[in-house]
Amino acid sequence: MTTELTVRAPAKINLYLAVTGKEDNGYHTVETVMQAISLYDCVNITRADDGDAPIILTCDVPAVPCGEDNLAWRAAEVFFAESGMRFPVRIHIKKHIPIAGGLAGGSTDAAAVLCALNRLAGEPLSRETLLSAGAKLGMDVPFCVLSCLGVTAALGLHYGEIMFPCKPLVGMTVVVASSGESVSTPWAYKRMDAVPLAAPGYAPLLGALDAGDTDGVLSTMYNAFEEVILPLCPSAAQCREILLSSRADAVMMSGSGPTVIALYHEENAAHIAAQELQKAGFSAAVCETI
Ligand code: ATP
Repeated sequence: MTTELTVRAPAKINLYLAVTGKEDNGYHTVETVMQAISLYDCVNITRADDGDAPIILTCDVPAVPCGEDNLAWRAAEVFFAESGMRFPVRIHIKKHIPIAGGLAGGSTDAAAVLCALNRLAGEPLSRETLLSAGAKLGMDVPFCVLSCLGVTAALGLHYGEIMFPCKPLVGMTVVVASSGESVSTPWAYKRMDAVPLAAPGYAPLLGALDAGDTDGVLSTMYNAFEEVILPLCPSAAQCREILLSSRADAVMMSGSGPTVIALYHEENAAHIAAQELQKAGFSAAVCETI
């Protein structure tokens, strides 16, 4: 019986993200097109049938909480509740995805734990149950579950958890620029309350994705948060300026920020931009849409 798995948990970017309203429960509704990228956290999960503690979680980044505050820990709890099974597990997370950067780092770790525990336990949960279990943890988690299962792009409606898989944007090189600033997602959504809800609509972007029209995708990308959040994050705004002056085909803040991403047809141009960012004291990773 397999007792240990190491899985790659991919980050996501939003090719389109609009806030469409706020419900009485305080949750915002969105329209979003999510795309996975090849920037991965590495999550190791061991079924430790001889262990005492139910869940032991460790992480190579000291700033990340290692108890119940870690979304991956909570994913293990949700898996046990949904499956009715219980066994001791050890989880180790090696972070490569910037923390609180709008790339769904915690969500993808949680999705990786859900999917890996399901495999280690003999697949007691269906794909549908994994997706609804993910939604209990956070609205980015269901998409991350899909990515773990090999579906790397989707339209997300309602809170983002009602998903329609779509054609991915393949083969674009992506520079992920981190300023070191962090943005809490609830804080970012609060900032959006004062902003009019006008947005261009996702139909042109989805149409371009479907037609394999990369330039059409790049010219219809949209993130409602960018205008509101970037002015509050001066270093991220500086990253954006550096990327805009590179040979990028599109530059945009990712999710609720403040990570800034740039997309390139030409891989070499991406590496040059990453070097420029590093020279200016920022971290930059080069990866691909998957
Ligand atoms: P999203 O894009 O889904 O809103 P994010 O990428 O902006 O999320 P995360 O990296 O998930 O943000 O981190 C948000 C907060 O969650 C962090 O400040 C951290 O304390 C906490 N956290 C909980 N679990 C994790 C995890 N596995 N990895 C990173 N941060 C985590």
